[in-house]
Amino acid sequence: MCTVKSRGKFFTRVMLKIGDKITMKKRTKGVIVQKYGGSSVANPARIIEVAKRVASCREKGYDVVVVVSALGDTTDELLSLAGEISKTPPERELDMLISTGEQVSVALLAMALTELGREAISFTGAQVGIITDSSHTKAKILDVSTKRIQKELLQGKIVIVAGFQGINLDQEITTLGRGGSDMTAVALAKVLKAKMCEIYTDVKGVYTADPRIVPSARKLDSISYEEMLEMASLGAQVMQARSMEVAGKFNVPMQVRSSFSTEEGTVITREVKDMEDVLVRGVTVNKGEAKVTVCDVPDKPGEASRLFERLAKADINVDMIVQNISRTKATDISFTVEGKDLQKIKKEIEKIVKDINAKDVRYDKDIAKVSVVGIGMRSHSGVAAKMFNALAIEKINIKMISTSEIKISCIVEKKQADNAVRALHKAFGLNKKRVK
Ligand code: ADP
Ligand code: ASP
Ligand code: MG
Repeated sequence: MCTVKSRGKFFTRVMLKIGDKITMKKRTKGVIVQKYGGSSVANPARIIEVAKRVASCREKGYDVVVVVSALGDTTDELLSLAGEISKTPPERELDMLISTGEQVSVALLAMALTELGREAISFTGAQVGIITDSSHTKAKILDVSTKRIQKELLQGKIVIVAGFQGINLDQEITTLGRGGSDMTAVALAKVLKAKMCEIYTDVKGVYTADPRIVPSARKLDSISYEEMLEMASLGAQVMQARSMEVAGKFNVPMQVRSSFSTEEGTVITREVKDMEDVLVRGVTVNKGEAKVTVCDVPDKPGEASRLFERLAKADINVDMIVQNISRTKATDISFTVEGKDLQKIKKEIEKIVKDINAKDVRYDKDIAKVSVVGIGMRSHSGVAAKMFNALAIEKINIKMISTSEIKISCIVEKKQADNAVRALHKAFGLNKKRVK
């Protein structure tokens, strides 16, 4: 490899072997990873729009790697198709099915780019060596090989990779959890040392709350990885939570922006000092949890441990936990689980309840978790009081509370959830324009 000076700029040239011929190829300004979500590629017209955007990035002199989700609601449609055949489809087969959505979009985008006179090539996750563990439907990426992508980039091609999918060491197709194309994009940006990982979606960036619920929500100019991770985990589906863990760990430069406009989006970045000046960055809601209350658990050491050990063994993920004080020799323990898993886990929970000599178990699906998130909470007090007050004014009853360094969550009745989000958004002054 040698470096030559050209028109005042440095360009790196690399030796490239094509067949038997060794040629010199000018390197570009670096790699940009662009990810387009389902609504951005919902139909052929949208795919052509995306192709133009990708082509224009290439024109600016970048190597472009594009990650695409399935068209529109394809993944949901495939899942409901599976549901019509089986209530409990084998997860291997589910992955086989739902990974097909992304394969359609990569091929169509490659065709659209070819129509525009660009050289582009599409790949499945397996073809570019996205190796995962074997946890079907929620696999973790173990390794990503850059060899094939680099080879195509060096030939000047635009590389298009199917999001959301990988392959395990037994050559089985896996998927990375809902919203997993974000993870594909972050992982590729990390291994390719991308200048930027751009997440294109149907909103202009990350907002102070879901703009579908709070019309006065503001687009944030920037947000820390930690806050975005927390907001995503608590229901802001604009980014996949797990992808934010990886992005934060490796400091992947990221921006969330709209594929429908050219406006600047939200930069996701490492925490900077004055970020702490803002008490609450955003408000979120998660309507997907259910509450389980185990009644009259014997109030003696070891009982909670037995209950949660058994739940863990049964692979039941528990979120918030509350144990009431006992006035008799028994106590009630409530916890939340994924609502969609409730039907599946009821039998197991009832078995456990019997074994630990608790009296009864009750379920409540009509709940939602509303949360306020912000790294400013670390250095400011009074957030909880303000939150509870805002909910009280709206006559919203709090069923459970949990806190961490940078968030406070309350379980409320599902039908009051949107009202709760709007009340909190207003109480923390998020719809006002901030000076900073
Ligand atoms: P994509 O298909 O592009 O991956 P998603 O539907 O997964 O898009 O995520 C975008 C959606 O996330 C938006 O339409 C918006 O309604 C929702 N959303 C929830 N919370 C937020 C938030 N705080 N900021 C922006 N969007 C949010
Ligand atoms: N198509 C997948 C889903 O709907 C992955 C993604 O869109 O990120 O979850
Ligand atoms: Mg998404």
